[in-house]
Amino acid sequence: MANLLVTGGAGFIGGNFVHYWAKEHPGDAIVVLDCLTYAGNRSTIAGVEQAELVVGDIRDTGLVERLLQERGIGTIVHFAAESHVDRSITGPDAFIETNILGTNSLLKAARKVWLDGGTGVEHRFHHISTDEVYGSLGPSDPAFSESTQYQPNSPYSASKAASDHLVRAYHHTYGLQVTTTNCSNNYGPYHYPEKLIPLFMLNALSGKPLPIYGDGMNVRDWLYVEDHCRGIEAALKNGKPGETYNIGGGEELPNLAVIDRICTEVDRAFAEIEGLAQRFPAAPAAQGRPTAELKTFVEDRKGHDRRYAIDETKARSELAYVPQQDFETGLRQTLRWYLDNEAWWRPLLPGGGG
Ligand code: NAD
Repeated sequence: MANLLVTGGAGFIGGNFVHYWAKEHPGDAIVVLDCLTYAGNRSTIAGVEQAELVVGDIRDTGLVERLLQERGIGTIVHFAAESHVDRSITGPDAFIETNILGTNSLLKAARKVWLDGGTGVEHRFHHISTDEVYGSLGPSDPAFSESTQYQPNSPYSASKAASDHLVRAYHHTYGLQVTTTNCSNNYGPYHYPEKLIPLFMLNALSGKPLPIYGDGMNVRDWLYVEDHCRGIEAALKNGKPGETYNIGGGEELPNLAVIDRICTEVDRAFAEIEGLAQRFPAAPAAQGRPTAELKTFVEDRKGHDRRYAIDETKARSELAYVPQQDFETGLRQTLRWYLDNEAWWRPLLPGGGG
């Protein structure tokens, strides 16, 4: 039986990873370390018997050392972060604290327990990062590869870039066995409704505007969160210490196309699912009108990166990573999950959704 420490495991991707790992590795014990910021939610992992939630901060190096020692942990999968670009623009400090100092605190604890004293235990520190560290692409630039120069543009991506460099340095300097994956925009269940896809789905259900930044032509690669979990599993299994791997969904789309597909899926759901119009009477689709009427253009985000695209050749060839969902099926499953799990998201809306 292997023991894993999953930081940020009550958040969106970490929570999905806990569900995925428990399903695929039923004998493993999972310790989740999460301080439950606004983005963390105990209910996300409440039903996973193999997972134990320790409410604590990754900056508490002593706590992490104790967890590694007392639970016999040999693998850290590090998701914990401040993750919302808009929040980093209005308040960068928390991003520096958690993403940079927090990652350094974890690395220090891992080094002390796994390397100091010459115990030489088998271990792995896997760090989750983002394609945003590479900056912004022009329309015909080649996609980001692992050797693309780092050019972070927001306080969020700058703090993630700094954490990536620290992870790399602990490998180079101390010999810590690290791997890093840089992924594109995730979507799927348990996604906090401040991010584009859940925000638009839930606004569509309550008849609220769908705010589109700028001209809506910013391009992102979209990755279904379970495919991302599969990619992380492949990196843990087949990844070479010291290496980084890009993980994408192979679905490069401008925001306007994403929004149009959400509108189409919501209209389709109202046409197909009995009782939705009664549950969500304020939705245009409940009154037979198109969801697209809610589209509203708003002032662009400051410093908004124009295009991200992922070249995942290395992950496919060296990790045997293959995404399984295309955007259409992934989006449909995501909408169905939100329709079936109102008890999870309703309390997260301003005023509890009232
Ligand atoms: P999230 O904001 O949904 O979850 C973050 C979790 O970390 C929360 O549960 C929060 O409570 C916890 N946390 C924050 N600060 C902490 C601290 N100091 N100590 C302990 N726990 C703390 O984030 P997410 O979207 O699940 O992202 C997970 C990781 O993936 C992040 O590192 C992020 O940078 C990276 N990433 C996310 C995306 C995406 O599309 N969501 C894309 C690329 C990379």
